[in-house]
Amino acid sequence: MRVRFHGAAGEVTGSCHEVEANGHRVLLDCGMIQGSDEDERRNEDPFPFEVGDIDAVVLSHAHIDHSGRLPLLVRRGYRGPIWTQHATADLLKVMLEDSANLAQMDADRDNRHRRDGKTNHKPLFTQGDVAAVLKQVRGIDYQQPREILGGVTVTLRDAGHILGSASVELAADEPGGRRVLAFSGDIGPRGTPILRDPVPVPGADLVLLESTYGGREHRERQATLDEIRDVLEHAWADRGNVIIPAFAVGRSQELLYWFARQWDEWKMARWKIFLDSPMAMKVVDVYGRHERLFDEDAQAVWKGRPHPFKMPNLHLTAEVAQSQAINNVCGGAIIIAGSGMCNGGRVRHHLRQHLGRKQSHIMFVGYQARGTLGRRLVDGAGSVRIFGEDYQVNAVRHTVGGLSAHAGQTGLMDWYAGIEGRPPVVLVHGEDDAREALARAMEKKLDARVELARPEQTREV
Ligand SMILES: [Zn+2]
Repeated sequence: MRVRFHGAAGEVTGSCHEVEANGHRVLLDCGMIQGSDEDERRNEDPFPFEVGDIDAVVLSHAHIDHSGRLPLLVRRGYRGPIWTQHATADLLKVMLEDSANLAQMDADRDNRHRRDGKTNHKPLFTQGDVAAVLKQVRGIDYQQPREILGGVTVTLRDAGHILGSASVELAADEPGGRRVLAFSGDIGPRGTPILRDPVPVPGADLVLLESTYGGREHRERQATLDEIRDVLEHAWADRGNVIIPAFAVGRSQELLYWFARQWDEWKMARWKIFLDSPMAMKVVDVYGRHERLFDEDAQAVWKGRPHPFKMPNLHLTAEVAQSQAINNVCGGAIIIAGSGMCNGGRVRHHLRQHLGRKQSHIMFVGYQARGTLGRRLVDGAGSVRIFGEDYQVNAVRHTVGGLSAHAGQTGLMDWYAGIEGRPPVVLVHGEDDAREALARAMEKKLDARVELARPEQTREV
């Protein structure tokens, strides 16, 4: 058995590893490269492997940096199965359809701005490509071994990162005996709301471990919750609205969960709550279909009153007209809208309305990448440009940390330490400083043999 690192080797996005097992070829993830325009142009490059050689794909979770090049893989001739957890299969549809939409809008905008009269910029992929991918998806449950190819078995275990996220155990009957590769996927922190804690793989000959936050720890969750409570109190005292830019998958649903769970303590009944994101609403439906994956706390909250997605003061605004009507609410509203980093989506319309108002509060609850509108606001910009117009910022800004979907250093080491025999480990899915910090800590505290994956490097399992 051997593995070759095609993506997320020395960077965070574009997760893609090719495994040769018992004479078959299996692709673990087929993710999109995200970042600068130059980075993202690499998505159009040919794959660094023969598409026709791939016999099966196993997808760890629905995030685009793990799944986003599947439509290209299928368009370029892949006709085999795409194995993944059932909830990931459902989320994949929402994510890829949204991604195809954005790709089409990008292409249209580019074509409008071209001065040479040519309008030939094609989107990276289309809804037709996405539909073809979805036909090839095969759902499986956690903890149920499945023979996906002759002598090759896959077992998925809950990774506690987003709904349906999995660590992948790939076992193969090789001529020299059984070999097992464990791929962490993205690992969530313990105690992530709604989701169960990550489950380690029992044993393996080689481990591929993500290292996104390999160099740091997260703040205590209770401190984060207290911070959210304080922001809401502050905004209520100011008679203002609270705008929360949030990712449609995971973070938006988590916020509604906390509001329902802290209903009395945070005096949530007095607010009008808007979930102003059609995509987040589709994800709410997916959560509804997979309640059996929730942890005990969430199961209890879902059985109690109020239900997180049916709070009496929660307004789901699907239509644009409904979204625009929120402008008439001058105080006492909490507005959750995408995109999470404010570089697209309805949140920009709300920011336009609210940035100038002293009584408005903007609460950031997720990562803000360099170059995004969200990052400029978090960094304290006095004025920002939205839709070609400048807006002065008088609103109060809050950055609430600690809601990460990724485990910190200790969480990653705990997951690894749960694997019997402490096999050699290769770090993927992290910037070099994060990987090096994690490698040092694992060598020192766990006596682990740690390597850093290099692009296109091959490693025997
Ligand atoms: Zn992820």
